[in-house]
Amino acid sequence: MTLRFCSFSSGSSGNCYLVKTDKTALLVDAGISGKKIWNGLEKTETPIENLEGILITHEHSDHTKSIRVLAKKEKKLRVYANENTWNHLKEAGSPEQRQIFKTGDSFLIGDIQIKTFSVSHDAVDPVGFSFSKGERQLCIVTDTGYICEELLDEMRTANLLVLEANHDVDMLKIGKYPWFLKQRVLGNQGHLSNESAAKTLVRLLKDEKQKRQVLLAHLSRENNFPQMAYQTVKNILEEEDYYIGKDIELNLLLRDQLSQVYDV
Ligand SMILES: [Zn+2]
Ligand SMILES: [Zn+2]
Repeated sequence: MTLRFCSFSSGSSGNCYLVKTDKTALLVDAGISGKKIWNGLEKTETPIENLEGILITHEHSDHTKSIRVLAKKEKKLRVYANENTWNHLKEAGSPEQRQIFKTGDSFLIGDIQIKTFSVSHDAVDPVGFSFSKGERQLCIVTDTGYICEELLDEMRTANLLVLEANHDVDMLKIGKYPWFLKQRVLGNQGHLSNESAAKTLVRLLKDEKQKRQVLLAHLSRENNFPQMAYQTVKNILEEEDYYIGKDIELNLLLRDQLSQVYDV
């Protein structure tokens, strides 16, 4: 029974991921329309009765806007978030549906083991998640302005890593965003640039034992292009003598597009 991953949409305009085994299905965030989420579940042949919960990374609307609708529609669905995040998500789901974890907690839902950890973002208590089943591990790190040593450790053992490559720094600087927003995105509590994503991968590859699969995620519409994200990462990897296909598998998750279903 493999662990599988699919992105229903990834980017500043809305995020929703599916993590599943044959028995259990979980959503990470619900920042796209309910209609698109149902469509994603249908296309990935995910039985609705397997859907046990939605895990929330942080309160920003590109991650949360459909929680209320989904919780209302599926009464047995549990919604998992830490307490600070819940305080910003008032009225989402009934009291029975609300599940509270502490950042740093590990817990089991169905047959999927989950670990939560802090990321660096301008939200009240933003988190990333690791999912494991048997020996296989998936790690999701987006919405973070900075990768500290602890965060790097969370990613180290992941077979499939979903990593933010939000923007190209030059494109952001010359772009039309107002000054305060540019500062926000570029800051330590903003978003990870293509270049920082690449440097993170280089650090991980230095003590890599096996080839891992990486999906670049949460690309900005204004300040990035899929081809630019891919090429920037490829170039930086090659400068360090790491090659796509040989040392690492690299793909992109796109906005408003269902990805393929990846085996972790
Ligand atoms: Zn976001
Ligand atoms: Zn955010």
